[in-house]
Amino acid sequence: MSIDVFISEDQIQKRIKELGEEISRDYKGEEVIVVGVLNGSFMFCADLVRVLKFPVITEFMAAASYGEGTTTSGDVKILLDIKTDIEGKHVLFIEDIVDTGHTFKKILAMIEKRNPKSVRIASLLSKPARREHHIDIDYLAFEIEDKFVIGYGLDLGGKYRELPYIGVYNPEAN
Ligand code: 5GP
Repeated sequence: MSIDVFISEDQIQKRIKELGEEISRDYKGEEVIVVGVLNGSFMFCADLVRVLKFPVITEFMAAASYGEGTTTSGDVKILLDIKTDIEGKHVLFIEDIVDTGHTFKKILAMIEKRNPKSVRIASLLSKPARREHHIDIDYLAFEIEDKFVIGYGLDLGGKYRELPYIGVYNPEAN
């Protein structure tokens, strides 16, 4: 097997700096609760909050969808919820990848009942070809075609999250 580099560490870090500038401009002077969606966003979240030019409250949620292998089912469960009261507050979600949109459909339905002032999404990746629910991504690092990627937080059976780049797993190569 081999892992082909799809988006390099340099490309990721450069794009995160650009997103950080944009997000910092948009939220200037506001209080923002940043919510990293575990597990896949842990690295993107850690890098993104470090380039923001305003103080944030950082929280985490965990969502899991039960599907087969590398596909997502609509059965999304919230495994960890945030502790901060978000009523009247700006909430910025940080996600690894928006694929079918099932995960965010579930998260947004739950969060909107808590009456936040605003809800935005920053996602490292988006695969629009796979979308089943429309999701507005406010800050997107990279749009990709329909391929299964690993690294930089994204896993295959819990492995490869530690890679500093985004790669494509090739089980056939030797
Ligand atoms: P959605 O609910 O939008 O279909 O999927 C969201 C979740 O599915 C992501 O947070 C991620 O954990 C997983 N996922 C979707 N596409 C990929 C992919 O290409 N690689 C990996 N490793 N996970 C993916």
